[in-house]
Amino acid sequence: MNREQLSADAPYLVLHEAEPDGGGNEVSTTTVFLTASRCPIGCNMCDLHLNTLPAATPSGAIARQIDSAIKDSEAKWLKLYNSGNFFDPRSIPPDDYSEIAERCNRFDRVIVENHPQFGRSRLRSFLKLITCRFEIAVGLETVQPRWLDRLKKQMTRDDFSHYASEIAHLGVDLRVFLILGVPGVDVVESVRWTRLSLRHAIACGARHVSIIPARSGHGWSGRADQLPDFPTALLAEIHGKLLQDSDGRAVVTLDLWDVPVHDTGYSRLQQSNLTQHA
Ligand code: SF4
Repeated sequence: MNREQLSADAPYLVLHEAEPDGGGNEVSTTTVFLTASRCPIGCNMCDLHLNTLPAATPSGAIARQIDSAIKDSEAKWLKLYNSGNFFDPRSIPPDDYSEIAERCNRFDRVIVENHPQFGRSRLRSFLKLITCRFEIAVGLETVQPRWLDRLKKQMTRDDFSHYASEIAHLGVDLRVFLILGVPGVDVVESVRWTRLSLRHAIACGARHVSIIPARSGHGWSGRADQLPDFPTALLAEIHGKLLQDSDGRAVVTLDLWDVPVHDTGYSRLQQSNLTQHA
């Protein structure tokens, strides 16, 4: 979809899929890619701004978008991804929290994305309104400090760890997005750091870790041609290693983006759903 075609009254994408729950089951999940205001963080590898509004999200728009997305949904879980941060008031207006919470409460679990810079007190306000299980997805990307800095994530590993601990105290579950590969780094080094990052995410209490192989569709400041190549057979092997590393302590999924399922040999449970990262 072109940016000019976006409307504040419609999500730019809705998916109905199944997610592994960590207990060997699949859970029906609706993912709503909300059309909202642009994320101000501006990570170097992120192209999510292509689906955002140039101005603040109008009041009432998010509830209308959710209504249109879930009207036929029988899903148990709901993912609300806004190409940014749920507790950024320019993206999700706080005055709309009650209306949004009312819709969230029809589900068993709701997952949103957020960067630790946004909305500690707004999170507390929102939690008072919901009765469903709440989960925040955070884009840690990597624990390699130099790469994290190069991605312009505006977050250190310690910022992430503190945030993970804070939300755990509030009874909120944690999902973590990790990247596999950055420009100019070979496959072996990329895998090594993703494994270390997975270990850190799990130590910080992640319930679900989503691994996102770097792809050229992202920005990467013109260096996308220096990304390591991960053929699908290698991705399957890496995923196997990460599952072993997790030892059942967290759900670990791998984003396959546009790779056809029949080309991968993956079972449905091994595949992850399309994700974004905040
Ligand atoms: S990756 Fe997340 S925090 Fe970074 S610019 Fe994109 S939406 Fe914002």
